[in-house]
Order: sequence, then structure tokens, then C-alpha cells
Amino acid sequence: MSPSTAPSRFHCEWAWLADGLAADVLIEVADGRFTTVTPGVPLAAGLDVVWLPGVTLPGFANAHSHAFHRALRGRTHGGRGTFWTWREQMYAVAAALDPDSYHRLARAVYAEMALAGITCVGEFHYLHHGPGGTPYDEPNAMGEALIAAAADAGIRITLLDTLYLTSSVDGRPLEGVQRRFGDAGVDGWADRVGRLAARPHAKIGAAAHSVRAVPAAALTEFARHTEGVPVHVHLSEQRAENDACLAVHGRTPTELLADRGLTGPRVTAVHATHLTDTDRTELGDSGTGVCFCPTTERDLADGIGHARSLTDAGSPLSLGSDSHAVIDPFEEARGVEMHERLHTEHRGHFTGADLITAATATGHAALGWTDAGTITPGARADLVTVSLTSPRTAGCDPAAVVFAATAADVRHVVTDGRVIVRDGAHLTVPDVGATLTDALHTTLTGSLR
Ligand SMILES: [Zn+2]
Repeated sequence: MSPSTAPSRFHCEWAWLADGLAADVLIEVADGRFTTVTPGVPLAAGLDVVWLPGVTLPGFANAHSHAFHRALRGRTHGGRGTFWTWREQMYAVAAALDPDSYHRLARAVYAEMALAGITCVGEFHYLHHGPGGTPYDEPNAMGEALIAAAADAGIRITLLDTLYLTSSVDGRPLEGVQRRFGDAGVDGWADRVGRLAARPHAKIGAAAHSVRAVPAAALTEFARHTEGVPVHVHLSEQRAENDACLAVHGRTPTELLADRGLTGPRVTAVHATHLTDTDRTELGDSGTGVCFCPTTERDLADGIGHARSLTDAGSPLSLGSDSHAVIDPFEEARGVEMHERLHTEHRGHFTGADLITAATATGHAALGWTDAGTITPGARADLVTVSLTSPRTAGCDPAAVVFAATAADVRHVVTDGRVIVRDGAHLTVPDVGATLTDALHTTLTGSLR
């Protein structure tokens, strides 16, 4: 069955609704949106419905992705090192890609995301230009490849087109492969991004890479250009960035962003790991979102951010798989709670409901899809059904499934009313493992040249 002919009535054994878990939920869908959501309906024989045993959740939003980093999974663990040594390997992959190979790789990565229940990705996209920084004939060829890849995989995308101008906080020019990331100032960036068009499955957002990559004056200009647009920025992932920012600007990265008009509800600060109490108050008071990426932050030895104090201060929390060391929204969600436990030596900072909200509604809102991420009439019809009879989830309280399930337990996924995963199989990318293998072989062969 093709995705567009998906049935429009689903009967969920359990469904995660706006006010919590409900049993025997009949869900009707028309034109990609929920029309009715009715708990407590007995399953009747002969009814034209799709039976969804297990727990059905809203669609997950992966609010922070760099698709090409997937090529590094399982290949960077041979020695010691830091974020900065990992970055050298990441740059070798970046140097190898062109629009065709990036499309193949991203299509496979987004299909992996779909299998994990991700119905929308925020792609923090900075690999814009050809070798040496020469623009492609179509200046957005790489961004277009990502938008097409998301369509192929059946998920939505917010392309967070990224401004990247310098290689250090004190303004050193881009060097080596970084030249592929740069534009001719904020105006050059804005001119290029202005040629990208939204589609039914794609929004165009913006990102400032970091205070390393965007000078202070350019941050102000960027803020002016992006009013009303979802904006993301890497913030204080590394202590070295904080030290350099204090040395050059006399303020923390958070204080610099605030000075330059880059805090507030439309802004999402990614990582927000090494913050001062004043930084957390600034972000919370301004309603600036934070996106944690626990599986990447642990993989890169970044440190542990303080999600509880940030959310208490007022910052909405979203989640991302960032470098794709793991693509598993459950692992990402419970990672927030588990890291807090390690840090505080206490349990119970976030409820299962808190974590599911971060992974669904708040993540979608951070990407500009405010009508997605909940199973309510009128919302975009995304459904993610998780088995309760797998070796991992058997015996689990359905309300606590986020603490037990993995991506491998996702059985069915619906995006905008279209079935994209059935019985654990992707409907338009038939063998995701083989597709990834082929795409990664091409990419890695290129990066070893
Ligand atoms: Zn990132």
C-alpha cells in the first residue's frame, strides 16, 4: 500500500493524549489532521480501522540534526581525545560530500529516524558550498538535497540554514573545509536563504552556528534578518568557547546573544551545557528554548547540562540526536533524566510525561510546527506506536514506556496522516540498513581519499 492511501481510522490499545494515557482510543484522520480522538471505544469486529496494539505516542521531533555526522558512528572510538579531535574526523566527511551523495546519505539517515518514530527533523545545515567554498550553480543545492531527502523518507523538515563566517571567537577567517560553510557576510547568507521556498513538508528556519563562527556585529544583523523565524544556535557546548568569549567580549556566550537580540521564545539554544546561574536566568526569563542532545553530549565528553534548573527558570526543553551517535528518541529523552540523576545523586527530576512532551510538542514548536506533537483534534496527524510485548518492553507500565523502550520497539509511524512505517518496516525506503550501508560506503570512501 502506498503511503497516500493510508486508512484514516486507527484504534489504539493505549494512546498518549493531551491529558495523559488513555485506553481504547479511536482516532479519525482527514487531510493529514486528526478529526476526532475518542477514548474508551471498544474494538468492534468488522469496523474499518487499523488496530494499533501497544502505546501510541505523538510524533517525535528531532530538534537538532547534522545528517552527515551519521557517517562517524562507530568510527571515532579508537583513541582518547576530545570534541576537538572528533571534529577533525567530522571535517573529513564534510569534505567528501556533494549534493548527490549528501542526498543519498540524508535520505537513509532520515529513514532511520522515521523507523525510530521521528516525524520531523530540525536540520542545522551549514555544509552549503562546493570545495574551496565555491558556490554550486544552484547555490542551495545542498539544502535542496536535504529537503528532498526528508520528503523521500516521509518526514517533515525545518531547514535551519546556518550562518558561519569565522573559525574562532576572535574572528580568524575560515580555513580548509570550513570554507564550504561560509557565505559573503550576513547579506550574502540572507540573499541565498531568501531563495529557499517552504513546502508542505518543509519550513525554512535559520541558525547562527555559534559565537565562534559568527562575530558579534554579525549576530546583531542576523537577529534583524530573522525576526519571526525559528532560530537555533549552538551555545556553550564547550568550556573553551566560554573562555574565548569572555576573553574577547568580556561576557559569556549567553550574555553576548542577549546583547545582540538573540534570546526569546523564537530562539533555541542547543546544548546549553556550561552556563552560569546568570545565564540560566537570562535564558529562562526571556523564554529562550534549550535543546539537549544527551547521547551526543556524552559521546563527545561535553559535560552535563542542567535541564531541570533551565526548565524551572522558564526555558522550554526540546531534544536532538545531533551527531547521530545514536538515533533513538527514547534514549535521548530518558538521558535527560538519567544525567540529572548522576549529577544530583537523586532520582525523579522529570516525569515520563515531561520527557514525552520535550520529545514531541516542545520539539515541534522549536522547529516552527506549533500544530504538531499532540494527539488532539485539529493537530497534524502523527502517530508513533510502540510495542509493549518486545523483550525490552514486556511487563512495562504503559505510562512509563519512555523509560523502557528503544527505537527498535517502534512498530508503526504515521506522518501527516500517511503511514510511513508499518510493522517496523519503512514503506518507501524498503531496506534502511542496506540503504545506509550503501550511502555510508560512498561517503566514507570519499573521505579517505
Ligand atoms: Zn550541533
